[in-house]
Amino acid sequence: MKRRVIAIVLATLVCVMVALTVGCTHKFTCGMCNKEVNEAGHKVTVMGKEIEICDECNKKYEAAKTLAGGLMG
Ligand SMILES: [Zn+2]
Repeated sequence: MKRRVIAIVLATLVCVMVALTVGCTHKFTCGMCNKEVNEAGHKVTVMGKEIEICDECNKKYEAAKTLAGGLMG
């Protein structure tokens, strides 16, 4: 009996973990390339406006930010 309860608890935990990992992806239109993607998304603020961008654009954005930061010291 006890072993069964433990198995149920473990199964529930695994389900929650999967939901947390997969559950954060959603469909949205990237604010940079205007492509519709199904990803976790990255919220960035560009010129005072908050937009959501895809993984690919986030890489470019991060690179640009690092470059700009390097230029400004
Ligand atoms: Zn994009």
